[in-house]
Amino acid sequence: MSSAEHTTKVYPPPASIVQGAHVSGMEAYRKLCAEAEADYEGYWARLAREFVVWKKPFTKVLNASDAPFYKWFEDGTLNVSYNCLDRNVEEGRGDKVAIIFEADDGQVTRVTYRELLEKTCRMANGLRELGVKKGDRVVIYMPMSVEGVVAMQACARIGATHSVVFGGFSAQSLRDRIEDAGAVMVITADEQMRGGKQLPLKAIVDEAIGLGGCDSVRHVVVYRRTGGQIAWTSRDRWLHELVDKQPSTCEPEWVEAEHPLFLLYTSGSTGKPKGVQHSSGGYLLHATLTTKWTFDLKPDDVFWCTADIGWVTGHTYITYGPLANGATEIVFEGVPTYPDAGRFWKMIQQHKATIFYTAPTAIRSLIKAAEANPSTHPRHYDLGSLRILGSVGEPINPAAWEWYHEHVGGGRCPIVDTWWQTETGGHMITPLPGATPLVPGSCTLPFPGIMAAIVDETGQDVPNGHGGILVIKKPWPSMIRTIWGDPERFKKSYYPAELKGYYLAGDGASRDAERGYFTITGRIDDVLNVSGHRMGTMEIESALVSHTELVAEAAVVGRPDETTGEAIVAFVVLKRPRPTGEEAKQIANELRNWVAKEIGPIAKPKDIRFGDNLPKTRSGKIMRRLLRSIAKGEAITQDTSTLENPAILEQLAQTN
Ligand code: ATP
Ligand code: MG
Repeated sequence: MSSAEHTTKVYPPPASIVQGAHVSGMEAYRKLCAEAEADYEGYWARLAREFVVWKKPFTKVLNASDAPFYKWFEDGTLNVSYNCLDRNVEEGRGDKVAIIFEADDGQVTRVTYRELLEKTCRMANGLRELGVKKGDRVVIYMPMSVEGVVAMQACARIGATHSVVFGGFSAQSLRDRIEDAGAVMVITADEQMRGGKQLPLKAIVDEAIGLGGCDSVRHVVVYRRTGGQIAWTSRDRWLHELVDKQPSTCEPEWVEAEHPLFLLYTSGSTGKPKGVQHSSGGYLLHATLTTKWTFDLKPDDVFWCTADIGWVTGHTYITYGPLANGATEIVFEGVPTYPDAGRFWKMIQQHKATIFYTAPTAIRSLIKAAEANPSTHPRHYDLGSLRILGSVGEPINPAAWEWYHEHVGGGRCPIVDTWWQTETGGHMITPLPGATPLVPGSCTLPFPGIMAAIVDETGQDVPNGHGGILVIKKPWPSMIRTIWGDPERFKKSYYPAELKGYYLAGDGASRDAERGYFTITGRIDDVLNVSGHRMGTMEIESALVSHTELVAEAAVVGRPDETTGEAIVAFVVLKRPRPTGEEAKQIANELRNWVAKEIGPIAKPKDIRFGDNLPKTRSGKIMRRLLRSIAKGEAITQDTSTLENPAILEQLAQTN
């Protein structure tokens, strides 16, 4: 049961993009897929030789002898920072701008590849001076900054494994991650600037270490961002004092392909955070390749990924992928709503961004903001530089897709709706802008070489036109290697016995009968069964949000129900102030009828609750597991440490 009107609208790639695209036309796409089908290892080996500079070339491609602990290119050695920096300088791009950094207050700094290399070498030398060596873990708790990217690159240069913790996480979350990783160092800043406010970072590091369990930490290195007051201990070192005296060259540590480049704790929208471990060689390959193909990246592009380096998107599409391709990219310190909700559009205009990659949650909130305050609408800015738009993090509902396409992309820019996960390292299912006809709300087809499929609970293929469990049938180079310190949990979570060795993504999906296009329907446990009808929560959310006049955002969960098995509960944020009493009842009724018309009476939410907001992770994802508890009327006993706005839980728990 899908709303047919959404799936019939097709946007073929514009001729101007098809021409000269890295993957030009569906024929070219199919040819790559066929190459991977015919000789899977040969395909990846070819790309690994083309896209990565190896110190010692690999002779082995895939080692599956200890599956699911796969190894790729295992006898090759490389250095990731060499690939991102030195390579560009050696190939004549030393004076090209690598990073256009825009601070919260609008101040702009440009850093060339040569300068970025020198900064990285200095920091790498500084880390070595403090005794950090290959295999040590370094936690990075930094604002969006050139220094944040440099810290990651410096770790990569000396073979230290970084674990970036988003600067919005609490002392407790930070402590848990420092302890789990056994970090020898934390790199942080005195404070960060967000939306005109100074927010503490170093004080939170002190608090985290004070909570205990962080004895592994020998040094805290502090980047001076604001000059605000901070406490000082004997383990603390100023970054500038450490690096200023260092030489500007630093011999890279050549590591094996499987050497862990980083750990990244997932955002926790479904449970206790896990330390996802990534490799050096396979990860870098996919980061480089997907940045080039998915965004059709060209030498003159100005690439802007709005993610924070604390998320995997910031790792792959800020710190590694664009730099490995020698691109010019924007790094933004601030927030999209400061000084007003036109900030993104203003920055695109000013820096002539050509590729813009953001999250549906940002788009939806900017739509809402533009309606509340029309002067922030993208139409007031010249966005003519844009060629390609991207979306990541959640399914993008067709209404938001259409707005993004029309008002940001001027109707001419393909939108790449990229499905992937922290665990996958890079894009898995995504359109390629010069090849794939787009269907709003669908992430379309697998990236060439990624064997994505939909199966049932026993691992049997499900025919197109039906929904099921999203799996990846073959290992791929940038896949998660293990959960740090917990190989058993890795096996259990991602390679359950009943799935015949397929990677379990944890998402539900369907493929349409006509094109075989994938649509993500939500997490597996977000599939509802109402009177025997199976529905994805996403579908109902999408229907609610398509009431563009009333609804800004919606989240749908199930609750056990005596008569229907499960009942649908919808949490809705309106474009007007939160209604109560009679008004709430009336609007709830209107929305119920709307859903009935859009999908069918069976999809009518039984209960609709209005909130000023929804409970979200700090990366902007709705935490449905908390909503499930609220819908059932349970007290919340789960981990809420990664929640952005805890106060909202109480409001939603009240029945209107
Ligand atoms: P945790 O695994 O800790 O619960 P998380 O899954 O939210 O956190 P991420 O790895 O950042 O952390 O997100 C991956 C998930 O985001 C995917 O499994 C999927 O549910 C969702 N997602 C990402 N991109 C898309 C997309 N383009 N379309 C639909 N869903 C997407
Ligand atoms: Mg996940």
